[in-house]
Amino acid sequence: MTLDPKNWEEFRQVAHAMLESSLDKMENARQGRVWTPVPKGLEASFKTDTPNESLSLQQIKEELDQIMKYGPGNTHPRFFGWVNGAGSPSNILAEIAAAAMNVNAGGRNHIAPIIEQQVIKWSASIMGMPDNTTGLITSGTSMATIIALKVARDKALELHDHSTLVGYTSDQTHNCIAKAFDLLGLPKTSLQKIPCDNNYEIHIKTLKETIEKDIADGRHPFAIIGNAGTVNTGSIDNLNKLADIAYNNGIWYHIDGAFGSAAILSKTAQHRLKGLSKADSIAFDFHKWWQVNYEAGCVLIKDSILHKKSFANRPEYLKYCQDGLSGGDFWTMDYGPELSRSFRALKVWVHLKSHGISEIANVVERNINQAQYLKNRVKSEAVLELLAPVALNICCFRYKFKSNIDEKNSLIVLKIQESGIAAPSTTTIGGNTAIRINITNHRTINSDLDLLINSVLEVGKSLV
Ligand SMILES: *Cc1c(COP(=O)(O)O)cnc(C)c1O
Repeated sequence: MTLDPKNWEEFRQVAHAMLESSLDKMENARQGRVWTPVPKGLEASFKTDTPNESLSLQQIKEELDQIMKYGPGNTHPRFFGWVNGAGSPSNILAEIAAAAMNVNAGGRNHIAPIIEQQVIKWSASIMGMPDNTTGLITSGTSMATIIALKVARDKALELHDHSTLVGYTSDQTHNCIAKAFDLLGLPKTSLQKIPCDNNYEIHIKTLKETIEKDIADGRHPFAIIGNAGTVNTGSIDNLNKLADIAYNNGIWYHIDGAFGSAAILSKTAQHRLKGLSKADSIAFDFHKWWQVNYEAGCVLIKDSILHKKSFANRPEYLKYCQDGLSGGDFWTMDYGPELSRSFRALKVWVHLKSHGISEIANVVERNINQAQYLKNRVKSEAVLELLAPVALNICCFRYKFKSNIDEKNSLIVLKIQESGIAAPSTTTIGGNTAIRINITNHRTINSDLDLLINSVLEVGKSLV
């Protein structure tokens, strides 16, 4: 007996109903609470023994309908926590097709590598990188970073011992960089975290001095990691100056553009992102500001030869043939650590085709304007204060309590999350707890930000 449905007619009916539930979920993304904790009773009911016998399709559908209610809430227009994309219904079309194809996109001669390479070409062109740039659609920026920095490390290892390698980034950098260094076997001391200026951008003079000192000490600078959008405040390092320093010292230049590189699409912000084109590698996420559904990150690497050299090492059972299914000139396994991979590129392809760059650019531009709107709302309230410049799409502020100011601001965030009205998060800015509002959401409108501010004022007042 196969695992195919015994009754295809019944399966079709349940599948159509499931599609309806999914579309309802997206069409009504604005309705109801942002986040709802999983009810204890439901959680307990899911803790069953390993299923031995099959459930009916109808029962499976009922369980899925329950599960769909208790996500983190990032499809909702008032999800402002961390940096999460809201996703878009166009992705459902691609995911249905991809599920039916059940492609292994790790290699061989079929449609997936063609689509993935095209998506990489579009991405390179948007970021201003050359046409022969290679890359992959990854699970996210964390994986993209590991791939990019491995190429950088392997290039450096041709000349130097790994214990002497040193990389540079700002103290505002996401911890995926430190994780990548760790996974690449580089010692903890090999990542120099350079302090920032008042705008939370890497302090250029300190960077230059640190590099000079390290060289004098016999170390070998191999990577500079610039930020196009830091996670705390959305600040953008001076990407052009970093490019000059990297070029003058023969250092690999990587940019973490996880969300902020999408601002290359914005007419008002794009001049600050021109330096992306000078990077040796870029890591960014389609699943954040681009609104592709999870997971979809991207790595772009300018030197395709070094990229392939770092990963291509085929055993006999994966041999290349000129013709047949073992052909095809682009096997993603030659460009990254994974062999089996899903057809993620299809989501990105469908998303870009169904919206065009112009619609996505409008979302980015609108979110940048909304962060300024929020900043002005904060400034106009006597009990609130801004904690960092609003460089892009993130606004950090707090309620001015006379005592226990950090605890009470954390409590405001907690109470608003639990109220279901909005989902902000916290961070620490200059040692102070901030209410952090990130706007990477195509569904957010200005009145959502008004609702948020009203909630902060209300909860704040109750805690005075
Ligand atoms: C989200 C984020 C990352 C990590 O990306 P994932 O897709 O979550 O792996 C890295 N850097 C920055 C600036 C981010 O915002």
